[in-house]
Amino acid sequence: MSPSDVTTATVEAAGTRIASRIRRTPLDASPSLTALCGVPVALKLETRQITGSFKLRGATNALLSLSPQARAKGVVAASTGNHGRALAYAAAAEGIPAIICMSALVPGNKLAEIRRLGAETRIVGQSQDDAQLEAERLSREGYAMVAPFDDAAVVSGQGTIGHEILDDMADVETVLVPLSGGGLAAGVAAAIKGRKPKTRVIGITMERGAAMAASLAAGHPVLVREERSLADSLGGGIGLKNRITFPLCRDLLDEVILLSEGEIAAGMRHLYAVEREVCEGAGAVGVAALLAWRVGRLAGPVAVIVSGRNVDMTLHRAVMNGVDDPFQEEGA
Ligand SMILES: *Cc1c(COP(=O)(O)O)cnc(C)c1O
Repeated sequence: MSPSDVTTATVEAAGTRIASRIRRTPLDASPSLTALCGVPVALKLETRQITGSFKLRGATNALLSLSPQARAKGVVAASTGNHGRALAYAAAAEGIPAIICMSALVPGNKLAEIRRLGAETRIVGQSQDDAQLEAERLSREGYAMVAPFDDAAVVSGQGTIGHEILDDMADVETVLVPLSGGGLAAGVAAAIKGRKPKTRVIGITMERGAAMAASLAAGHPVLVREERSLADSLGGGIGLKNRITFPLCRDLLDEVILLSEGEIAAGMRHLYAVEREVCEGAGAVGVAALLAWRVGRLAGPVAVIVSGRNVDMTLHRAVMNGVDDPFQEEGA
């Protein structure tokens, strides 16, 4: 697999392949953010996607691209939550066995949901890397690995969001994309720039343990220390042997913006109080960047990808009640 395996054409093919399996989510105008920014702002609500995040798009595209033999044996993945949940759902929908490996840091609500969806779960170690090693062991036993981001079929599936945005907002000038391993950002950037090259695509992530941002700055994939963040779905490394998302993010993203926990919390509060959307920290970073005036000059319409809603509701309530950095306060 190489970065050239993701193109506008592969994204278009993914769109056709997954159309009957996923929800075409709304791109809803935000009157309040439009007033704040002085240009039209719309929210691409992947919070409304089946399983509560966009990850179902990539997982479904990957499963539908497997050989009949691979489908019969089953699939494996290591996941911080939303990818595992999406893969569990998609595998059950296709009648494919799935094993999901994850670290002990994964929130309990996400673990319970994956089990409910019918996948076998393996809890291994304290980091994404430990879970990844177990998944690799199972892939040597013959299970097909469906990686959370560094996989051309997964990236092409996530990119379908980009084409939906262009179909609904042809004059979009800036797209704000949550960024972790870069599957979403790489797919959306490839999809959008393939059709409308001048559109700006900006990756947004958290200051705490931003592996892609550190890798882009270094010019090659690097390791970062994992820290707890409100944006837990943005945690984890990009893989030192990253083949696809690092080069695509390097070549296609116009900018990367890093946010503090307080800025992310403000984004979650705006989404709930004003837009009436329950959103996890990772999903709120685009809105947070606008509220904090961290995106430079806006010359035209903005689409903000609101990537998921799978937040522990006790944590969500604390943030709504004004807590800005629950994990810092927990350790203090
Ligand atoms: C996985 C995820 C992201 C980041 O996607 P990458 O492809 O890893 O960059 C953002 N938001 C949510 C809700 C996610 O689940």
